[in-house]
Amino acid sequence: MFILEKLAQYARTERTAIVYGEDSLSFAALEQRSNAFARYLLDTLADDHTPVMIYGHKELAIPACMFGCLKSGRGYVPVDTTFPPERVQRIAEQVQPKLVVDLAGCGVKAPTVLDAAALEQVLSLPAETVSRENWIAPDQTAYILFTSGSTGTPKGVQITAGNLAAFREGVAPWFNLGLDGGRFLNEISYSFDVSVCALYDALGRGMTLYTVDKQMLGDPKTLFAALRQSGIDAWVSTPSLAEICVQSEQFTSQLLPQVKQFVFCGEVLTKKLTEQMMERFPGVPILNAYGPTEATVLVTAAEMTKDMLQSDRPLPIGYAFENVAARIVSDSGAVLPDGEAGELLLVGESVSPGYFGRPDLNAKSFFTDEETGQQGYHTGDLCYRLNGLIYYCGRLDSQVKLNGFRVELEDVEHHLVRVDNIARAAVLPVMTDGKVTSLTAFVLLEHPDGLSSLKRGQAIKAALAGVLPSYMIPRKFIALDAFPLNTNGKVDKKSLAALL
Ligand code: AMP
Repeated sequence: MFILEKLAQYARTERTAIVYGEDSLSFAALEQRSNAFARYLLDTLADDHTPVMIYGHKELAIPACMFGCLKSGRGYVPVDTTFPPERVQRIAEQVQPKLVVDLAGCGVKAPTVLDAAALEQVLSLPAETVSRENWIAPDQTAYILFTSGSTGTPKGVQITAGNLAAFREGVAPWFNLGLDGGRFLNEISYSFDVSVCALYDALGRGMTLYTVDKQMLGDPKTLFAALRQSGIDAWVSTPSLAEICVQSEQFTSQLLPQVKQFVFCGEVLTKKLTEQMMERFPGVPILNAYGPTEATVLVTAAEMTKDMLQSDRPLPIGYAFENVAARIVSDSGAVLPDGEAGELLLVGESVSPGYFGRPDLNAKSFFTDEETGQQGYHTGDLCYRLNGLIYYCGRLDSQVKLNGFRVELEDVEHHLVRVDNIARAAVLPVMTDGKVTSLTAFVLLEHPDGLSSLKRGQAIKAALAGVLPSYMIPRKFIALDAFPLNTNGKVDKKSLAALL
């Protein structure tokens, strides 16, 4: 597998692989520690290839565990600490891991659980290079990322080593990353697929990952001090992170003098942000890139231009990568002519084989392309194409992106009606400048609770905090005496939207 070959190659240099605060890890140490972990997995799990679950945030040990898994022919399931223990448990119930690396006390039970101290002992063991025969094969699952599912149970997107190779090939012409080192911003949680750009593309080119954790992200002073020190050459993030940064006047090319490219992905890139970025970082190319986790990180990209800013259209999400067929189809599945909006279908080697253990969902979302025999995916995104460029017009379902996080509104509703005294719930996105900025929940109580809306909101938030990641928790709760209904008896969300 390309990344494992590259790690071995850079391990023979003096290069640093990852910087995190005062700590750092050289490529040589990453190679040694991932070998030690692979050897341990081969000895402990033998022929059992169940993926290894890794619970933590940005710890330096995590990439060593991930690459160790791949070297031993196993996949991994990274679960970030933003997931509360109950949700982690639901993931564990699906994966049934034999080995869990628990760096932050998620409490999942498995035949072997390594906490930080036990893991450190394993990673410090001297280990020979693991023979390539043990490495993960192209059709084997390299990682599973769990994302919001409309039934309230997270769904695990399986990505194979072959999918990753296709992604790397597809994105290569778009990323302006050199082969002579440099620094790459490493701020995305490892349980979100944009982090693959850092782990596979940047490390695979011998770059140093400069880590920014969620605590640093939450404190502008620390964040800016970190960015000033970072010396990063390449920035890949959601627009939301840049939106936070541009609020400060410090966010200019003086802060990041080396940066050669900004790549924004994961959610709508607004013209306002693009204009601000062009002003603050004159001459630095800005790319809008798009892709669902199910098609391995990114499948389209384009550099944003002044002409695009002046046009009446939204900014395009880009041109399809060479190795991805992006088709826009009508409800009946007919390919639509340029300019007509329909669902975007993706076909190619980077499309996931499906959700882990969910044939029901796979039958709905994935298909085999009749022409090529390749795997295809229904994105649920409404798009149209003009002159090769694809434009995004919104979702066909109730999935939203909030601060770059993927949220199924039905997932939140599912958990709300399990909160004490809530009979019915409807969650709506609050939009500002064409972007979702928060969620509001309408609730129907089983019986009056005598609470002020503030106290009720606090109580519901506290109940949800045990089951949902913080980014999925609505900001506002509005109790209604009755829900407006459509003629088909479903909650009339249009009428509710008028109450926002
Ligand atoms: P995720 O799997 O979390 O990366 O979410 C994928 C979804 O995010 C896509 O199906 C789109 O709905 C949305 N998305 C990703 N990139 C963009 C973009 N550049 N512009 C608009 N929406 C995007």
